[in-house]
Amino acid sequence: MSAADVPLRFASVQPLDRRQLTAGSRTAPRASRLAAPLPRTSRRTSAALETLGIASLGDLLEHLPFRHEDRREARPIAALAPGDEATVIADIRRIARRRTRGRVSVVEATVTDDGGTMKAVWFNQPWVVDRLPPGTRAVLHGRADTRRRNSFVVSTYEAAPGVTAADVRAEGLTPVYPATEGVTSDRIRELVKRARPLEGETVEPLPSLLRASERLPERAAALDALHFPDDEDETELARRRLAFDELLVLGLEYVGRRRAREEALSAIELDPTGELAGPWLASLPFRLTGDQDRAIAEIDADLASGRPMQRLLMGEVGSGKTVVALHAMLRALENGRQAALMAPTETLAEQHMATLDQLLGGHVPIALLTGSTPTARRRDVLARLESGELGLVVGTHALIEDTVEFRALALAVVDEQHRFGVRQRTALEEKAPPGRSPHVLHLTATPIPRTYRLMRYGDLDCSILRDLPAGRQAIGTHVVDGARARRRVYERACEEIAAGRQVFVVCPLVEESEVLQARAATAEAERLADDEFRAHRVELIHGQMSARRKAEAMRAFASGEADVLVATSVIEVGIDVPNATVMLVESAERYGVSQLHQLRGRVGRGRHPGLCILFGDPDQPRLRALAEESDGFTLAEVDLAIRGAGEVLGTRQHGERELRVARLPDDADLLERTHRIAEEILSRDAHLEAPEHALLGAARASRFAERSGRIAA
Ligand code: ADP
Ligand code: MG
Repeated sequence: MSAADVPLRFASVQPLDRRQLTAGSRTAPRASRLAAPLPRTSRRTSAALETLGIASLGDLLEHLPFRHEDRREARPIAALAPGDEATVIADIRRIARRRTRGRVSVVEATVTDDGGTMKAVWFNQPWVVDRLPPGTRAVLHGRADTRRRNSFVVSTYEAAPGVTAADVRAEGLTPVYPATEGVTSDRIRELVKRARPLEGETVEPLPSLLRASERLPERAAALDALHFPDDEDETELARRRLAFDELLVLGLEYVGRRRAREEALSAIELDPTGELAGPWLASLPFRLTGDQDRAIAEIDADLASGRPMQRLLMGEVGSGKTVVALHAMLRALENGRQAALMAPTETLAEQHMATLDQLLGGHVPIALLTGSTPTARRRDVLARLESGELGLVVGTHALIEDTVEFRALALAVVDEQHRFGVRQRTALEEKAPPGRSPHVLHLTATPIPRTYRLMRYGDLDCSILRDLPAGRQAIGTHVVDGARARRRVYERACEEIAAGRQVFVVCPLVEESEVLQARAATAEAERLADDEFRAHRVELIHGQMSARRKAEAMRAFASGEADVLVATSVIEVGIDVPNATVMLVESAERYGVSQLHQLRGRVGRGRHPGLCILFGDPDQPRLRALAEESDGFTLAEVDLAIRGAGEVLGTRQHGERELRVARLPDDADLLERTHRIAEEILSRDAHLEAPEHALLGAARASRFAERSGRIAA
């Protein structure tokens, strides 16, 4: 950006004087007025503000608007067309709460200006009646109803005695804030306006040299511009400045953790002894892929270093992660230590157990520990883990209960770690001998684009399995809509069954309730068994069934006795039936791209090509992407672009805070850049002790206060 592109407000703060340049950033803030509590607010308002995280004037200034309303074009009522978003200045004539059935509360007002009359409507804000009594002049922003004429749904409002359209136009872009019951966006705006003169006291966390070389406006100016911008460009520039700070602090945390790990020689060294892992690899009936070889070498280097490994092993279902993980587990074993694999669900744990058992060929003892492990068996497993007699264990959360003790846990493998909470992940690590950190290998079958990985797992090293093992089959994917096309799909599925193959049917995801989802799957299984698949054996599996019945259904399908398996998304992960060639997904649009990609990966695993049918709208970009793209990593990028980062991994976790200002993938460049800058800063000043880094250190400390294990952003 050239100096000429810098908006005026920022240009005025760009030049730095020499003193600032040499002194680094401003020295520690004096007892700032920003730390003062909010003046003159009622108890109710203060309480509401507190739920928004606003306790001080400083908090208030950091409470950023999520959009701006354009007041530059305040319009007369007579000029409104249905669907218009607009600002209107009008007088309240009548206003009343209307009774409605259900829980929605509605306030309706008759409002007029010089040339017209309309009905203004508020949903779920009963208190508006008291705020805008008849006779009040009000600024109303909202949207003219598309169906009912002369009706206007208000999004924000303000009582504004004597105000004119000209006054309002002068307001320009008006910030809209996250609000909550007890304090409206408008009220927050008033408070921010009053606190505005204090913006200059905002702490500037960036060293002046960095700020100058990155050509960033001062934080205070950026905050002001984000609250009250002159135009849209200014908002974006300001947002990028704040995003820079946010991502830099994240980078400092991740890079800092990684460095701390590299300095700590607290892990047990696991050297290749040649006793177990090597001979086992040599005994496998297949050759490892290049990626598997590479991952194994990377992990071996970690394990032998004495520094605790924290590595993410990423690869699609079937890419051979388990083989790599087991090799590492055998390293622990041949060094006389123990290894544990923890999976998020019993089904997955059982599946892992089966794979490991098969891969080990019964030569090495391994046990399963889940919530359903019978008491006597459980007692036996616990005793053998404690004595060290048992070297390998697979399980669920049951592994981290207090009663579980290891004699010498040296490696923890955590499958799909994003499905565990921070506490649960660290609880397993704490099973290592006192003063020792275990090596940790995180497995994920969700391909995570680089950008997102940096944000979420920036503190982990990463190995990727991209090549699929030889012999994997192509999977034709089609999006299908309409009754006739659907009939043809069933005919095609029946042909596959006639040729000796098997079919999965996945029922729609019902977010609200597993019970409803189970019911839907049951109904669909019955329907199919009576109709399209009446000549075949149909089995059902869903989350509400007992473990026994699930296992029985699985067994029937895996053995080929059943031709069709109707399932809820429980089969998303962890089912390996190479003879299955057809995957039918109902209401595919309810699933995310990566889920669908994983479901599709259930077929085409044997000698025959697979077919995946997504029932849904062929114009939906996500479904189209699946039909066109087979590579999981490419799809993950597409997914990220379509949905944005917040949603990509689905489950948002307890204890995780989202990015506040930065947006991915838009700010991917910033993320990379700040990460590099964090590396530079920490390589010169590992503990952020230099005066010019003190405020960055403070920002990092306050952002990541709840230290304990990994905290994803
Ligand atoms: P993931 O855990 O990534 O889903 P697995 O490690 O469970 O994959 O491997 C899936 C299947 O492929 C297993 O049956 C495994 O034995 C087999 N397999 C793994 N690596 C290879 C390979 N290099 N060549 C052929 N088959 C392999
Ligand atoms: Mg596996």
